[in-house]
Amino acid sequence: MDEIEYVNISDLNQFLYCPRRLYYLMFYQTQEINVHLADGRGLHAYQGRRGGWYREVYVKSDRLHLHGRVDLVEQDNGVTVPVERKRGTSYYENDLVQLAAYAMLLEEHLGERITTGYLYLYGTNTRHPVEITDSLRLKVVETVDAIRSMHVSSIPGFCDNPRKCAKCSVFVYCMPYEARILEEA
Ligand code: SF4
Repeated sequence: MDEIEYVNISDLNQFLYCPRRLYYLMFYQTQEINVHLADGRGLHAYQGRRGGWYREVYVKSDRLHLHGRVDLVEQDNGVTVPVERKRGTSYYENDLVQLAAYAMLLEEHLGERITTGYLYLYGTNTRHPVEITDSLRLKVVETVDAIRSMHVSSIPGFCDNPRKCAKCSVFVYCMPYEARILEEA
């Protein structure tokens, strides 16, 4: 496969969770609805019915090689604010990077600077302001570059966190424990 032209925003999150996971999703289309994804999708649908926001705003950037749907876009006193909704009670760096990518795409699309986004957590019904820093922006660019250079012939290594593997939707394809033993042999 040639170099990937456009990276989907949600793939940034997948890659930062585990590059090997994105490899399976991208090249083998092994995405399946495990309990964690199913739960998150149901919550998204419920939240959407409350209305009042711009939802699922599609944006694409030739410059950033990025595209995707921004979960929610709010207008807060004339200021544009992207919102990403997450299941669970906490968030991680990959969620911050995904939110920064939303902000960067909207900036280019609207021609205005976006300095803040929000992460909404269903588990606590709270939302958290996130500053869209230069380091997050750099991480977006670096991650896009890393994803674009992925190739079917080069599978990334295993992740070091067994808790991530336990929740991973491609666990049955990756078989991290069995495959690691076989690769070492
Ligand atoms: S099972 Fe673990 S090593 Fe394999 S793709 Fe998922 S997170 Fe990565």
